[in-house]
Amino acid sequence: MPFIRVHNIRLDIDEDPSRLSGLAAERIGVAEESVQELRLARKSLDARKRGRIKWVYSVDLLLENPPAESDRFSFVNDLDPFDEVTPGEEPLPGRPVIIGCGPAGIFAAYTLARFGYSPLVLERGAAVKERVQDVRKFWKGGPHNEESNLLFGEGGAGTFSDGKLTCRTSSPLISYILKVMVEHRGPAEILYESRPHIGTDRLRAVLVTMRKHMEESGAEFKFNTRMDDLIVRDGAIKGIQASGLGVTGQDGGEFLACGPLLLGIGHSARDTYEMLLSRGVEMEFKPFQFGLRVEHPQELIDRGQYGQSYGHPALGASEYILVREKGKKKRAIYSFCMCPGGIMLPSISESGMLCTNGMSNHKRDSGKANSGFVTTIGDFEIKGDDPLKGIRLQQQYESIAFNMGGKDYAAPAQSISDFMRGICSGRSFDSTYPRGLIDADLSKLMPPAVGRAMASTFKEFDRKLEGFSSDAAVVTGPESRGSSPVRICRNDETRESMTVGGLYPIGEGAGYAGGIISAAMDGMASALTIIRRYAVPK
Ligand SMILES: Cc1cc2nc3c(=O)[nH]c(=O)nc-3n(C[C@H](O)[C@H](O)[C@H](O)COP(=O)(O)OP(=O)(O)OC[C@H]3O[C@@H](n4cnc5c(N)ncnc54)[C@H](O)[C@@H]3O)c2cc1C
Repeated sequence: MPFIRVHNIRLDIDEDPSRLSGLAAERIGVAEESVQELRLARKSLDARKRGRIKWVYSVDLLLENPPAESDRFSFVNDLDPFDEVTPGEEPLPGRPVIIGCGPAGIFAAYTLARFGYSPLVLERGAAVKERVQDVRKFWKGGPHNEESNLLFGEGGAGTFSDGKLTCRTSSPLISYILKVMVEHRGPAEILYESRPHIGTDRLRAVLVTMRKHMEESGAEFKFNTRMDDLIVRDGAIKGIQASGLGVTGQDGGEFLACGPLLLGIGHSARDTYEMLLSRGVEMEFKPFQFGLRVEHPQELIDRGQYGQSYGHPALGASEYILVREKGKKKRAIYSFCMCPGGIMLPSISESGMLCTNGMSNHKRDSGKANSGFVTTIGDFEIKGDDPLKGIRLQQQYESIAFNMGGKDYAAPAQSISDFMRGICSGRSFDSTYPRGLIDADLSKLMPPAVGRAMASTFKEFDRKLEGFSSDAAVVTGPESRGSSPVRICRNDETRESMTVGGLYPIGEGAGYAGGIISAAMDGMASALTIIRRYAVPK
């Protein structure tokens, strides 16, 4: 019997949620006693009227005698999106190999393993437990590890992230991905929260549990194994060379023959992009985000967002979204990857470079709120037709930032008011950034036009969010790795590279996703294309 969804039930933040069953039954005109089961479908916070903040729920009801169709509710479709997927008949040319164990690679592997295609996943970084130790050592002042760091290793860039599981598109795959996470030790509330958040601590447990499950279904994972080269014959992929494989080919290199090769390398494997370009894999410049990161005391943001309800135990660390729309002579600038109760990080994979990002744990309890503020850098803003010119621009400013920070991964910083006035007043800062902040002129961290636009936009944002430019707000950066500056061109239908058959670029680094969920969806979609084309191996 299908569940019935009832929308828009509003409760005060103090009200007991056990009232939901009665209120939902009343809304659709049935007795509360006929409700056999209630599950939350969506929960959001309406804080538009500060002081009269409400929870807004949608609930799914299983009823003894469901009423006939009505505009007061809708029937819920609980079908598994994979039920109608039928494997193809073409013989599989070899074992599917996935490069990269980020969300795109993991969910591609999960899908292939579920249908019996036994994928092999190669990841240049370490498995999550070892990776966490490497990152912690770095935060405490240790050396930067070029292979096991904030961006490389099991879970990819998503592992040390804010763990927001939001996505701008709608697809049945989204709820499927969230369900898979919950089945593998993810928090249940991600299934119904309007802005689901898992947090980096809970995400790590999901990664390990999912990996074990996939291994039981025939998938294999090799960490500390970096793909270094492609073996292409007659325009199609035949194999790869990789360090860490432990399999030696005829020429003495480590060689692996493969079937479909899924490339989920993320947006920071700059050496891999160079190799792909040298092998004739078609790529193009992609507009990307660039800017700064701002940190405030969380209390300041909460007071601005919650008004009189500030401090209410039912309310978590609050978020904000700030946007300056594009105008005649104005760049669009917007908040990006806002992390309530999070920490600011050096989000790097290469030594001698520095850029920032933010992450949080499930509880979001650091006491600080940070957010990127970015603009989009377009093709016309960087000269030349090098497909990797966006990476060159990132590197230029990341290297300046590293030098300004004293070449030891401290980050250059200014108070927001100093940044807006273009001065450095020699302050010290109270911040979560683990390797310390150094007072410096941040206008040097970005193209001059972007710097001027940022300073004027922050003045506008101060009018929109009380306390935004308070003296307690710290700016750092550059925020240069918010999205991929490259697209690996692929055929819309076959999802293969335009120039190399059997090569499937997936996820954020391929330029087709911009977050954990969209990368996971993209990996699954390519895996499904492979399944529909090839027969299940015997
Ligand atoms: C600090 C931070 C916070 C973020 N917060 C959020 C958030 O809250 N919500 C959200 O939706 N998104 C967030 N993101 C973005 C999100 O993490 C990415 O969009 C997502 O991880 C992209 O997934 P992916 O699988 O395409 O690539 P990645 O996650 O980048 O994974 C790529 C993997 O490929 C591996 N690899 C690369 N080259 C090779 C090679 N040659 N051989 C073998 N392995 C290789 C890398 O080591 C890496 O593990 C955040 C990102 C960062 C950095």
